[in-house]
Amino acid sequence: GFKYDDATTEIIHDVSFSIQPGQTIAIMGKTGSGKSTLSLLLTRLYDYTSGSIKIDGVELKDIQKAYLRRNIVPVLQDPFLFSKSISANILMANKKASKEEVVRAARIAAIHDTIVNFKDGYDTAVGEKGMSLSGGQKQRVAIARTIISNAPVIIFDDSLSAVDTETDLAIRQNLKELEKDTTTLIITHRVSTARDADLIVVLEDGKVAEMGKHEELTKRPGLYQRIAEIQGKMA
Ligand code: ATP
Ligand code: MG
Repeated sequence: GFKYDDATTEIIHDVSFSIQPGQTIAIMGKTGSGKSTLSLLLTRLYDYTSGSIKIDGVELKDIQKAYLRRNIVPVLQDPFLFSKSISANILMANKKASKEEVVRAARIAAIHDTIVNFKDGYDTAVGEKGMSLSGGQKQRVAIARTIISNAPVIIFDDSLSAVDTETDLAIRQNLKELEKDTTTLIITHRVSTARDADLIVVLEDGKVAEMGKHEELTKRPGLYQRIAEIQGKMA
């Protein structure tokens, strides 16, 4: 459980699930249901205020923040790009990476082709003083940055929301080819993104409304079934 300092009630309440190494977990739920907050607890940006979170049996609060942040690397919901080149922005997460590794990460994030089409390629300056990228381009540079970290646990907080569903799928297929043991948390509003996950956790007002695999959840009346129905009709 978790409550923000100034709050009286818990924003995350009685949420419980476990993730095996190498699994992909999807977190769904309406806006404000607590998805981003939940992910911030994992890197101890905030410390949970009740209950327990354990990694390999070790209580999170006993693990140094610096260590956690090297091993659990998120793509934030509003990624920030520094006033530097694209290549420098990707390298932020792993300063020792080579040019080839930058390109590989950019390819996985489906942004390489876009970058090489810019006049200055990977040297293109972005951020406040540089070229302004579209929301989806920014997201993909941020994804490349997380990929190059080679972290065993990565979190995508709505990180594919600004790209079309085809690019979303391409990126996820590329990710699957990453080391098999990367554990991935995907926060998403799209059923098409969540459906392949090993476990889907649906949050509602900071509580688990439902949890299971796509096949189970689509058969059971509930929030996920309703969302799947609506998105199915739109597709
Ligand atoms: P979205 O789909 O819009 O990204 P979310 O599920 O990620 O939503 P959170 O950002 O986790 O939702 O927010 C959950 C609740 O916590 C909301 O009611 C929000 O107003 C509140 N909240 C978020 N950040 C803070 C904060 N720093 N201080 C106090 N309350 C906060
Ligand atoms: Mg959020």
